[in-house]
Amino acid sequence: MSKRIQLNTTHSDKHEIHVGYKIEDEIIQFLSSSFSRRKAVFIIDENVFKLYENTFINKISANFDESVVCIVPQGESSKSVSVFSHLVGKILSSGVERSTPIIVIGGGVTGDLGGFIAASCLRGMPLIHIPTSLLAMVDSSIGGKTGINHEIGKNLIGAFYQPKAVFSDLQFLETLPHKEIVHGLGEVIKYGMISDRSIFDLLKKIPLKKEFSYSKEWEQLVSICATIKVDIVSKDFKESGIREILNFGHTFAHVIERVGNYENCSHGEAVFMGMWGAVKLSQLLGFNIDIANLSEFRPLFNSTFNPSETMEELTLMMLHDKKVKDGSITVIILEDVEKARSKILTNSADLEKAWKFLINEFK
Ligand code: NAD
Ligand code: ZN
Repeated sequence: MSKRIQLNTTHSDKHEIHVGYKIEDEIIQFLSSSFSRRKAVFIIDENVFKLYENTFINKISANFDESVVCIVPQGESSKSVSVFSHLVGKILSSGVERSTPIIVIGGGVTGDLGGFIAASCLRGMPLIHIPTSLLAMVDSSIGGKTGINHEIGKNLIGAFYQPKAVFSDLQFLETLPHKEIVHGLGEVIKYGMISDRSIFDLLKKIPLKKEFSYSKEWEQLVSICATIKVDIVSKDFKESGIREILNFGHTFAHVIERVGNYENCSHGEAVFMGMWGAVKLSQLLGFNIDIANLSEFRPLFNSTFNPSETMEELTLMMLHDKKVKDGSITVIILEDVEKARSKILTNSADLEKAWKFLINEFK
């Protein structure tokens, strides 16, 4: 039996997030009690499809008389208008109804794209997320943000759209490449910093340098992180207040990703690096927060950051972030571990110093 976490948004719809290991039977029970067995749409990451076609996917799709299977090529480039349009065409021409479920199985790329397809087709079809990467389990499948990229920028086209349920089955992590586990850990460590230091104790009990192997500690870790995100999102469905603390490290991370053309490092790596800048900034603003919280995980990350831009240019680039309001930079800082808050910055000198510290660590 999986652990269940309830997400109540300010909207009338509530749903559960299930975290467990080999929970196909629970998924099947949910699907058969919620939907007609006539038809389902599956939107599946290409690698996950290859690995699980004859096992997990066959077992789930056997519950429907007809399955419309859409494969999403791996990589960020699938979050595009052209892939969106191609898959929407396939789904609509298959004769779906507004009650046909869309079951999305994959990492954050497939989840963001599939979620947006579910939000858009017939003005909204029921969405079920089955996240298969660590990042998707602890972050992207929760909270209802869906979307695709535009050449002007990342995640600029999208909608807030809640799934009917999320099933995080840790069996998928057994095939996730180790580097992808590490990327997910960037967000996990962020939750430890902003909300729950017990995450650090759990991380010490898990052999992180080795390939994933299922343990109760892993399950607890995913479930704690999911609960933190659920708690924060429940209080702030459309990201106007407390939800912004989830962006700890992200104002730096978005610039790191942009400078590297979204190719030099993953989002999770950029978040890990970005948190070094955010911790330094917190220290410069007078808070006694120890970088040792991050440095003990430093050996896991091979990430480097060698920008050709100056500190001043990097700081200016922060102004172009989506989170910028009225030209002033709002950053999330820590007064202490578990005590995150937003701060509007008027003095860019501290930001430049924070960049210098970050670059010195990752050059
Ligand atoms: P991803 O979806 O690209 O998956 C990473 C890689 O792992 C891919 O090559 C994929 O094919 C593979 N993979 C996934 N599951 C696997 C499995 N079980 N076994 C083997 N291989 C597997 O990347 P990601 O890190 O999961 O997600 C990144 C995306 O998430 C970004 O586009 C980002 O913008 C988005 N995101 C969204 C939110 C949100 O709130 N919606 C939050 C954070 C990130
Ligand atoms: Zn993030």
